[in-house]
Amino acid sequence: MTTQDKIALVTGATRGIGLETVRQLAETGVHTILAGRNRDRAVDAALRLQAQGLPVEAIALDVTDADSIASAAQQVEARHGRLDILVNNAGILLDDMGKPVSGQSLDTWRDTFDTNVFGVVAVTQAFLPLLHKSDAGRIVNVSSALGSVALHADPSSIIYDFKVPAYNVSKSAVNAWTVQLAYELKDSAIKVNTIHPGYVKTDMNHVDGEQRGELDVPDGARTSVQLALIGNDGPSGGFFHFDQVLPW
Ligand code: NAP
Repeated sequence: MTTQDKIALVTGATRGIGLETVRQLAETGVHTILAGRNRDRAVDAALRLQAQGLPVEAIALDVTDADSIASAAQQVEARHGRLDILVNNAGILLDDMGKPVSGQSLDTWRDTFDTNVFGVVAVTQAFLPLLHKSDAGRIVNVSSALGSVALHADPSSIIYDFKVPAYNVSKSAVNAWTVQLAYELKDSAIKVNTIHPGYVKTDMNHVDGEQRGELDVPDGARTSVQLALIGNDGPSGGFFHFDQVLPW
């Protein structure tokens, strides 16, 4: 199957890394569905990419809303009959940086898990039947190095002092879910991996009026795109940043 024949869907794609992932996938010729929780913003973003000649369409998809997920899956089935690539990119960081690890509210934990963990599981469950209809299904879960339990336990690691616990643990759960799902899919044509995009200059890292980060957004989308386009000899059940394997 060439990239021109593939159909991809990226969640949380109205801005940041998700929007750029849509752009880069579409630039390779993949027909890419830009999914956003706000229909108007998703349509606006898709129209801008279409105006650049890219094969992009919009869909409304709130990863915390079961009806929205079911409706999106039905629309993709009706329009395309299958899905080749699912990028679970939507994510939120709600922790109050001024509070200690033990001081985040339970609402913060629940809301974070609703989007970052249960959203990933629910969207994957809804689209798995369509991914099984692909000759080479690919799932990319956008996690974070902050989800690495090994790095958090290592005082010499660069992330050791960055304790935003609800977010960090939600990404650890995404990593653990990826390994569980890879087991289910090991004898299928679907590969599932979890990735760290890098520390990227997006709204998520907006502090004091500036977007902090080490990578510009185009580089921040590259690992998602790379794992979305792996061949049949590619990995499954791994945790990657570019070509680097990250510790769990
Ligand atoms: P961002 O600029 O804040 O964008 C987040 C995206 O997620 C937005 O499009 C947002 O939609 C969407 N979203 C939030 N809740 C949603 C929901 N319930 N349903 C559907 N979409 C929803 O963040 P980003 O930096 O691009 O982050 C993208 C992914 O990379 C996240 O999973 C994040 O955890 C991960 N990540 C980022 C970094 C980094 O340094 N930036 C590092 C590691 C991992 P709206 O526009 O509607 O709000």
